Amino acid sequence: MMMETFYDKFPGIAEKETRCIIVMNDETGLPKGEYYLLESYCNKPKCDCRRVFINILHKDKILATIGYGWENVEFYEQWLGEKYMAQDMKGPILELSGQTTEYSESLLKLFEKAILPDSQFITRLKTHYEMFKKNLHKNSTEELIEEDFNPEKHTIVELCKESGTDFDCITEDTKEVFYPILMAIEETIWNQYSKDSSLKDSEVIESLKKLRDGVFSENTRFNELEENIVKKLKLVLFLNNHSKRDLSLSISNVLNSAKLHRSSDGSRGYVTFISRFFNQMTK
Ligand SMILES: [Zn+2]
Repeated sequence: MMMETFYDKFPGIAEKETRCIIVMNDETGLPKGEYYLLESYCNKPKCDCRRVFINILHKDKILATIGYGWENVEFYEQWLGEKYMAQDMKGPILELSGQTTEYSESLLKLFEKAILPDSQFITRLKTHYEMFKKNLHKNSTEELIEEDFNPEKHTIVELCKESGTDFDCITEDTKEVFYPILMAIEETIWNQYSKDSSLKDSEVIESLKKLRDGVFSENTRFNELEENIVKKLKLVLFLNNHSKRDLSLSISNVLNSAKLHRSSDGSRGYVTFISRFFNQMTK
């Protein structure tokens, strides 16, 4: 596995959310000052190792590399298929492949004492891991588009599966399983708006209505935006198990979101909102 820094993919978020420890006294044997915990994650799209490498940076120098897995040991035993290495996978340990200095041991102790009990930090690691992995998946998906999948050869209807998510509506709790479809639609709208800043919410809303009513029919004539959304949806349907109902629910969900943002934030309230979101995701 190759570890890659979180900062590489999400510099804006990393700047805001990188944990810093301040050492004020001599007890620890560490030089006083700020220590930054720089996260790296494994960049194999299909690997679900659920670990982080933390490089501890002090005055522009990495003084220790700590490996840590937030799941329990049983998870890593199963994941590895053996017991011998599982404890090391869980950690926290000093990574042999990382930086080792005279301060590494003290930093590991500090990490155990001051950082591990901080559940908010651990939750943040999990979130960063999810974002990182999704980003990898997205990139490999885009490669697939160019290489293997030809949307022209498929219809939406044919790509929809008999059974999908089994949910009747999209709520905060169920939203996650619809993300591939929701993201495909919103990302395409965002792409269009990035190319053409004259795009208004009202046009987006018209397009979404047309898709809602005509996406399963081959006779509907779509404009450029609608055509691009359909193309992207075909890939998502090709890669995931979604039913026609999932697709209808998702289009309606985006439509409602667009209406909501237009009514509260003006004629480009919605396109501005999604731009902010995607710009941060891909920065
Ligand atoms: Zn991995």
